[in-house]
Amino acid sequence: MAKYAYSFGGGTAEGRTGMKELLGGKGANLAEMAHIGLPVPPGFTITTEVCIHFMRAGGKYPADLTRQVRRALARVETLMGRKFGDPREPLLFSVRSGARKSMPGMMETVLNIGLTSKTIDGLAASMGNNARLAWDAYRRLITMYSDVVMEKAAGLEPPEGKGIRSRLEHAMDALKKKRRVKLDTQLTADDLKTLCMTYRKLVKKVLRKPFPDDPMEQLWGGIGAVFQSWNGKRAVTYRNIEGIPHDWGTAVNVQAMVFGNSGNDSATGVAFTRDPATGEHQYFYGEYLLNAQGEDVVAGIRTPQEISKQGSRDWARNQNIAEKTRRELYPSLEETMPRVFRQLDGIRRKLERHYRDMQDIEFTIERGTLYMLQTRTGKRTAAAHVKIAVDMAEEGLIDEREAVLRVPPGALDQLLHPVFDAASEKKAELLTRGLPASPGAATGQVVFNADAAEAWASEGRTVILARIETSPEDIGGMNAARGILTARGGMTSHAAVVARGMGKCCVAGAGEVVIDYASHSMTVGGRKLKRGDWISLNGSTGALYAGRIATHDPQLTGPFGTIMDLADKYRRLGVRTNADTPHDAEVAVRFGAEGIGLTRTEHMFFEGDRIISFRRLILVAETVKTLRDELKAAGDNPEAAKKVRKKLAAPLKQYNRALAELLPLQQKDFEGIFRALKGRPCTIRLLDPPLHEFLPHDDAGQKEMSRQMDVPVKEIKALVEKLHEFNPMLGHRGCRLGITYPEVTAMQARAIIQAALKVKGARPEIMVPLIGHVRELSLQKDVILETIEDIRKKRRLKKLPFKVLIGTMIEIPRAAVTADEVAEVAEFFSFGTNDLTQMGCGFSRDDAGKFLGDYVRLGIYEKDPFQVLDRGGVGKLVDMATRLGRRTRPTLKVGICGEHGGEPASVEFCHMVGLDYVSCSPYRVPIARLAAAQAAIRDKAAKKPARRRPKRRK
Ligand code: PEP
Ligand code: MG
Repeated sequence: MAKYAYSFGGGTAEGRTGMKELLGGKGANLAEMAHIGLPVPPGFTITTEVCIHFMRAGGKYPADLTRQVRRALARVETLMGRKFGDPREPLLFSVRSGARKSMPGMMETVLNIGLTSKTIDGLAASMGNNARLAWDAYRRLITMYSDVVMEKAAGLEPPEGKGIRSRLEHAMDALKKKRRVKLDTQLTADDLKTLCMTYRKLVKKVLRKPFPDDPMEQLWGGIGAVFQSWNGKRAVTYRNIEGIPHDWGTAVNVQAMVFGNSGNDSATGVAFTRDPATGEHQYFYGEYLLNAQGEDVVAGIRTPQEISKQGSRDWARNQNIAEKTRRELYPSLEETMPRVFRQLDGIRRKLERHYRDMQDIEFTIERGTLYMLQTRTGKRTAAAHVKIAVDMAEEGLIDEREAVLRVPPGALDQLLHPVFDAASEKKAELLTRGLPASPGAATGQVVFNADAAEAWASEGRTVILARIETSPEDIGGMNAARGILTARGGMTSHAAVVARGMGKCCVAGAGEVVIDYASHSMTVGGRKLKRGDWISLNGSTGALYAGRIATHDPQLTGPFGTIMDLADKYRRLGVRTNADTPHDAEVAVRFGAEGIGLTRTEHMFFEGDRIISFRRLILVAETVKTLRDELKAAGDNPEAAKKVRKKLAAPLKQYNRALAELLPLQQKDFEGIFRALKGRPCTIRLLDPPLHEFLPHDDAGQKEMSRQMDVPVKEIKALVEKLHEFNPMLGHRGCRLGITYPEVTAMQARAIIQAALKVKGARPEIMVPLIGHVRELSLQKDVILETIEDIRKKRRLKKLPFKVLIGTMIEIPRAAVTADEVAEVAEFFSFGTNDLTQMGCGFSRDDAGKFLGDYVRLGIYEKDPFQVLDRGGVGKLVDMATRLGRRTRPTLKVGICGEHGGEPASVEFCHMVGLDYVSCSPYRVPIARLAAAQAAIRDKAAKKPARRRPKRRK
């Protein structure tokens, strides 16, 4: 019989931490904590397999589940010395989700299960005659259960504000008003009892069903609803964003309730073994609330207090609160319950030693007794990722390789993006300060709801989402926003946790900010800001500013430098950059680029007046070519030749003029890039894009060209029409341009070589794009070599002072499958995986966006093949072409310069098939360095080293 329920508690457990697939992260870690002797309230975990069965079987459970749950439940009863449903000393349960990977706040929880009209008094009596606690627990049970089980899980979708939870909250607000109190905690036991009666009536009226009064019915209702919440809207959205498979399912944890709200010797809290924002660990980072339940901390309704005294003092300083006030109103746990604090601090150390990673823990103190409710590997910012990995390696908790593996390459992105320019930030108008919940800087237009954030961002605007507090419903908008601001909530509020996970800048709990959703505006200290106004957030200090603030590049030293040095120590792949300007090249070199793998020369043609010269060139190039062909055809007929020559004169003049204008400009560009590279190699690609991208399509543009070329507009229009192509991406582009207009290739080659002659140490590599046939490459190589020879002769040089490599991009499948022939001519290959994906998969780069989303959703492709290299198809072409090419020319240098060159999974693939280097945009260089190191370390660990380039053949 399969095992569906795994018990834990009382110093032992049936599960272990390695069983996350079956027990979910929460369940596996509860089991582990019980194993290592931590005080965990007993309970049991129902496996993810049951969830999968439940989903497939339309809400039915496997046959033996009921029996197994009953047995596990009896074990908890024994350990707790209380019975479920017992009127004198009732045992209550919490029912919580727990997927393999944490999905904070995305699924449902029901607390206080087992409270019925028969058990309420017993609970009160057994908790030291605490009637208030019992009725408060019952109120919470009715709220959660009616919302989660009776409404959501039943498929009811009332309009916003009309759901049962809102109705119950209104009833509570009405009672508070009547009693003239502000806080829930000010309601008496009798008030809460009255409220519970109102709640029950409301549930019956609204949901047309009585609130269940049977403990077992409540338990199974809770379990089913948690399973169902796996497929709830926000859970599905979250999984889509995070790339979590939909068929994993969640486990359900049923655990004995302990009460953090049973008096002033009780509390509940969330803590981290190191600071999740910075990675620091001089003191214990965490927050707690006296006399409260866990949901109160996470919901951000009350402002939590710090756990450690030092943390509390730092917090007070940040909030401008005097030490005396802090001590009186917001003391730390270290001060209020020193004994429990010491116990918790001991557990923190034990957990870190055990898990060898930063842990995010939840605890409850019930009448002076500490209970651990959860531990999991804590989500953290990129800065914390790096610092924790480096520190733990220095402390000997992990080794260097493990430190490199610990940092997700993609997270580095957060560290590489600009931070506020200090001088501009100083001058900016500071509106207020909140908590520095997730570091970084963000400037954007403020919006006040998640839908607006998504809509505005999709129009290309940069937005900051401001909310009173966020909830899981806001997930899409938070993802779309550049930064998040909340008026309420602490460092562990939903906004703070989710923002850190997403790597978004966040300022939380800015109490002076008053947001009015109805008028789409907020006020801060008398200053009103409307939707669309620019604001700036500093998530590292908690500052909120009006207006935009200038930014600059980040610091690349400290722990970041250490992790990069370690990455360089272990990686085998070279890392170059794609850069078209000296500035980009400089940035990339600072990020560790070892050269340029792709300079797209055409990008330079758009700048300033160059576009005019370039348009002049392409508008006459075709005419010049046709007339030259005619001239050849005229052969020995002098009369005909004379006529053609006459016709050719004017366009040829324009053509030569354009080439002469472009040559020095291009040369200057290349000189700048060579200089920025300081002796590093530089692959420059000859002209590649479809010509239509440069043509003047609008009236103004055509008129301007008519003026510049002294040709009627009509003629310009006709030329533009003549050059029109139906499928330009497969049309006259790439080396085809150089084949038909060899003068352009010659001009570019001349500009490259002349520039290299001017800059000491330049190492030019000339790359021919988009070849499908080796003969295309030979023809272009001839033009390049002739140009080099011409320069050499004119300059009376014996030979050039540098070696010029001539190679090609491999981006047409035909080139890949004939790579052995291509390598006869090419001295290097660079895979243009953007085009290779386009032509390999047959997906238009410009149009595939329309349906690729569906393709990924349906699992046809696991990931968008333009983002993550399609190993099974395009990857095979890369692998095969590399082998074929090196068979012909063992010294062949092979790299990749498509977008995939900076994407971690694709970099790993490049390592595996033995490429020499990857090339990516400047900001992705550190990501590629780290991903390359991780690939090398994993490879060694798997004991199947990646293919290396073959030894040079004699
Ligand atoms: C490619 O096709 O992968 C490539 C790098 O070239 P481009 O994106 O300029 O076509
Ligand atoms: Mg290309």
